[in-house]
Amino acid sequence: MDVLQTPIEYLKGVGPNRANLLKQELNLHTFQDLLHLFPHRYIDRSTFYKIKDLPLNASEVQIKGQIIKVDLIRQKRGKRMVATFTDGDNQMELVWFRGYQWIIEGLKLNVDYVIFGRLNWYGNRPNMPHPEMEMLESFDKGFSKALQSVYPSTEKLLAKGISQRVIIKMMGELLSSIQIPFAETLPEYIRNPYQLIDKNTALMNIHFPKDQNTLTAALNRLKYEELFFIQLQLLMKNLQRKQKIKGFIFKKVGDHFNTFFNKNLPFELTEAQKRVIREIRKDIGNGQQMNRLLQGDVGSGKTVVALMVMLIAADNGFQSCLMAPTEILAKQHFASLKSMMGDSTIHIGLLTGSSKKAERAQLAEQLESGDLNILIGTHAVIEDKVQFKNLGLAVVDEQHRFGVAQRAKLWRKNSIPPHVLVMTATPIPRTLAMSVYGDLDISVIDELPPGRKKVKTIHRYDSNRLKVFKFIADEIQKGRQVYIVYPLIKESEKMDYKDLMDGYESVSRAFPPPRYQISIVHGQMPAKDKDYEMERFLKKQTQIMVATTVIEVGVNVPNASVMLIESAERFGLSQLHQLRGRVGRGNDQSYCILMSSHKLSSEANTRLETMTATNDGFKIAEVDLKLRGPGDLMGTQQSGVLQLKIADIIKDNQWLKTARSDAQMVLRKDPQLVNKENTMLRQTLAKMKAYKNIWNYIS
Ligand code: ADP
Ligand code: MG
Repeated sequence: MDVLQTPIEYLKGVGPNRANLLKQELNLHTFQDLLHLFPHRYIDRSTFYKIKDLPLNASEVQIKGQIIKVDLIRQKRGKRMVATFTDGDNQMELVWFRGYQWIIEGLKLNVDYVIFGRLNWYGNRPNMPHPEMEMLESFDKGFSKALQSVYPSTEKLLAKGISQRVIIKMMGELLSSIQIPFAETLPEYIRNPYQLIDKNTALMNIHFPKDQNTLTAALNRLKYEELFFIQLQLLMKNLQRKQKIKGFIFKKVGDHFNTFFNKNLPFELTEAQKRVIREIRKDIGNGQQMNRLLQGDVGSGKTVVALMVMLIAADNGFQSCLMAPTEILAKQHFASLKSMMGDSTIHIGLLTGSSKKAERAQLAEQLESGDLNILIGTHAVIEDKVQFKNLGLAVVDEQHRFGVAQRAKLWRKNSIPPHVLVMTATPIPRTLAMSVYGDLDISVIDELPPGRKKVKTIHRYDSNRLKVFKFIADEIQKGRQVYIVYPLIKESEKMDYKDLMDGYESVSRAFPPPRYQISIVHGQMPAKDKDYEMERFLKKQTQIMVATTVIEVGVNVPNASVMLIESAERFGLSQLHQLRGRVGRGNDQSYCILMSSHKLSSEANTRLETMTATNDGFKIAEVDLKLRGPGDLMGTQQSGVLQLKIADIIKDNQWLKTARSDAQMVLRKDPQLVNKENTMLRQTLAKMKAYKNIWNYIS
């Protein structure tokens, strides 16, 4: 058996109790897992301080000296242990509040120790709580004196006596007990251009770096390896999917498309829209199944692209469906597509959660007979009950509300899966998108229709409210309409509801009837009430729409020119950007006003500053990524890329690009990895598959 699969309790110094803790706290089960517990930082252990020179604000310090006395002191709950420590000239105290049972056992008086840790200062007297300690003799013999690894740990581990010192000891034990060298995973022809060091040296040095240079070399090697294999795996999956899965062929562009293009299309397509339609046409004409992500900032005109592709489907005798994340949005799509189609013979239906039984029955009939060309709706569209005659294309609007599971459901509708076009306005940097959605191809509409005025964005404090309301009154005077949005955070819906209602009241006071009419829409309202309110706003019967973020996605009211966001500091960047996208849809200058209190965290401040500085969704996405990390990007964790162990998707973006293009190059020459020089890669991938996790195999 592979030595590395040995359960961790068999490592010297571990045993069943510690093994259990390591499993619970750090998910370490085997030697392998421990080996790939990478330090999250390193500390400099080359400097020793004298007690009289200890700096007031250093994060951690190291001192040589002896313990001359130990006391157990009773305190309110339990005891604390205090050791008197001397460096020969001066004394200070070392303190343990917990776990001292483990320390006291091995503690020796009047012997040279090296102690290391943070300081607490009481006036000008320092003490050191829970120091890392090692006898000078063994410190001198140790693996590393310059840079010391700091491993991920938990309070509980610490309390149970598994300190950094202990983890480092375990790691040392592991590396010296495993006699085999670790198998190389990257062929030389891949390592050479970047002078990546071999696997063995890298693993030794990531845990016990000799110096900064070897550490950097080890980091580079392991980061590259991690990113490279994830990319290789994603790309291979995509290749195989394309080979295995047949798709419908939409051969021709016919009357439906041409009539629309020549007669009904009310504007010139942008170059980006044309390019994307060409990319899609290639996909749907080549016999493979399309699986494409269409990214485009809010207002970039994704809907018309979707419509035109659906018309091509119809030209080839296939049905399409268009799914939206909310009922409001589905209805809007339905209305706007119908009006764009004019008197065309294309038959469009709408199915949502609130469709009546009779309507459903009629739709079902038309779907099965093939009479209906396009079905628009919410999740209701993919319920198993809904049967198409020949679904050839599924368009999913606003991907981040749609899970992978739902996409999969679509596939089960036919023996041959429909082409899938996923549209999202959540802009993520392209390399990242490719890594996260490795199984999708990507098109980008990176251009807004001409003549759009940039939405002017300003940040105002609550204390400026009177002025802001005056401004709104002026806009309404000019015939414009206004959104006022309140935060909605799931954890405290009740409180948000109260905020919304308080807000509604104060808005009503500032804008009293009959001069002003106000709509209100929130998540807890029955759908038909929401519709009624939306309808009134759309028809300009109301001038102000007070709402929670239910209006975030896709709502289109071109006459609205002001988006006022209350408690803007509570929104995420991408949400703010989405909301802003609700205005600036007509020909008038539009405004986005971010209201906040004076108390702002620095992160909130960055978000608001970013919003006022730029309208570019991709720039905003990059800042967002830096602030939040990729963890909750798009609400789903779709691939290993988001759970990287050593590489950082943002900081190591350059390595990511390199790794991806290398993986592409390898597969272009050797798609099955059958060439001799790629044996290592093939074997590694096989193990990756078996163990499901990149580091659970590579060694
Ligand atoms: P999104 O990409 O956010 O879904 P939409 O598809 O809703 O954007 O388009 C926003 C608005 O822009 C719509 O009113 C649409 O009719 C209009 N539009 C789309 N493409 C163009 C174009 N090429 N020229 C002018 N207006 C366009
Ligand atoms: Mg849209």
